[in-house]
Amino acid sequence: MNYSVPDFDVGIIGGGPAGSSMAAYLAKAGVSCVVFERELFPRPHVGESLVPSSTRVFKELGFLEKMEQNKFPYKYGAVWTASGSSSSAYEHDWEGLSADCKADIRFEEREQPGVDQIHTYHVDRGKFDNLLLHHACGFGAKVYEGVGVQGVDFDADPNYAAIKYTIGKKECSTSCRIVVDASGRKTLVGNQLKWRIKDPVFDQYAIHTWFDNYDRRAMAYKENLTNYIYVHFLPITNSWIWQIPITETITSLGVVTQKKNFAKSRESREKFFWDCVASRPELYAGLKAADQMRPFTEEGDYSYAMKQIAGDRLVLAGDAGRFVDPIFSTGVSIALNSSRFAHKDIIGALETGNFKREAFNNFETTIRRGTKNWYNFISVYYRLNVLFTAFILDPRYRLDVLKLLQGDVYEEQEPPVLARMRSIVAEVERNPKHVWHNLLGDLTANAFVEAAA
Ligand SMILES: Cc1cc2nc3c(=O)[nH]c(=O)nc-3n(C[C@H](O)[C@H](O)[C@H](O)COP(=O)(O)OP(=O)(O)OC[C@H]3O[C@@H](n4cnc5c(N)ncnc54)[C@H](O)[C@@H]3O)c2cc1C
Repeated sequence: MNYSVPDFDVGIIGGGPAGSSMAAYLAKAGVSCVVFERELFPRPHVGESLVPSSTRVFKELGFLEKMEQNKFPYKYGAVWTASGSSSSAYEHDWEGLSADCKADIRFEEREQPGVDQIHTYHVDRGKFDNLLLHHACGFGAKVYEGVGVQGVDFDADPNYAAIKYTIGKKECSTSCRIVVDASGRKTLVGNQLKWRIKDPVFDQYAIHTWFDNYDRRAMAYKENLTNYIYVHFLPITNSWIWQIPITETITSLGVVTQKKNFAKSRESREKFFWDCVASRPELYAGLKAADQMRPFTEEGDYSYAMKQIAGDRLVLAGDAGRFVDPIFSTGVSIALNSSRFAHKDIIGALETGNFKREAFNNFETTIRRGTKNWYNFISVYYRLNVLFTAFILDPRYRLDVLKLLQGDVYEEQEPPVLARMRSIVAEVERNPKHVWHNLLGDLTANAFVEAAA
């Protein structure tokens, strides 16, 4: 093989939102790039509710018109509900903070720089991912579907890396100056380099499916809330249900819980789904009257970080770089914003010829900052749900929390509202007589004492 001229400047592994948006940014800027996607699109995928920070990427890529033309349901905000049986626990107020077993918020309440629409979208990922990948093709990115990459040889040549795959029985290799691993939770290159670290706290599992003709008014306690995403807290610790509109009539429902609650056999896991739903009787009645459209799909053991998310000739984008629990619908936004930040470093590296890890430093520090903020937010949330609803309902904190929910997490300063939440959690943890003490979840136990000290 002749490595003197690379086949492409950039080789991208995976054609999900991280890979396709990266290809679109690069091809739009005139960089030669190729995407290897092991599936044939469209294919189903979990992760159907977006946050508004995605809109900046859609705008920059000229993709917003396609989102509108394809009539993805508008998402105006989010709703959280807790079961009636636990609602009495939410009645305790503390230092002017008053909790409630339900809360909702609209994105339009906070003006978001660079985002001039009041909605984001819920998406059928089969359709959305396919459109975005084809959008990248439209800019000139080369895309191979049905080609699973087996590994990357970073030592094949001093000047290039070689992406390895087979077509039929033929072993193939494509050379490129920079590799982007966007292989999602498969974390192809992270595994190869042994960079993956399992999250010590979160070991969440999910089981989910789509229903047709579920009447979304069943859980809407106010008018105009039917098209929001719903997070229904369950009376089982650290467990919740998502409710996401996919079309006018189709709704995605998924139970998220901890591994220890997740039964071994498939039958008992399906029973577990229905038992969880039954803890919310209105939801149960609504779903039993609807039609399940797909078999259940499971997602397991998915929280992890990587020792590093960039290396020499290498960028890890989206889930390939880190996965945090999906409670705030963060994943697609992180994937898209990975490309938004990383493509600039990649173009800079191609211009200077410096392909060392340091060339991708802006990307690495910005994305790490964002995912750290999400992670801290999620940790507070799991530790003390009630605090989250209290903050949402309090005018002192509502817009600061909304900023996080909109996906604006990448600024240099840590959002002050997170420090405030952490110090309250630490106080509740320390004081067994605190009105919220018995509402503490058992994840991230004592995580905040040190931070608050
Ligand atoms: C239970 C659950 C609920 C979630 N809910 C939400 C939500 O509501 N909102 C949200 O924004 N996010 C959500 N997410 C997260 C979201 O699914 C991901 O963050 C998002 O899909 C990441 O995009 P990506 O491009 O990095 O990876 P992916 O979308 O997974 O894309 C990776 C692509 O790489 C391909 N690939 C893998 N290995 C190879 C290989 N060896 N060779 C070639 N191709 C390969 C795969 O086929 C896939 O198409 C959820 C996740 C889970 C687990």
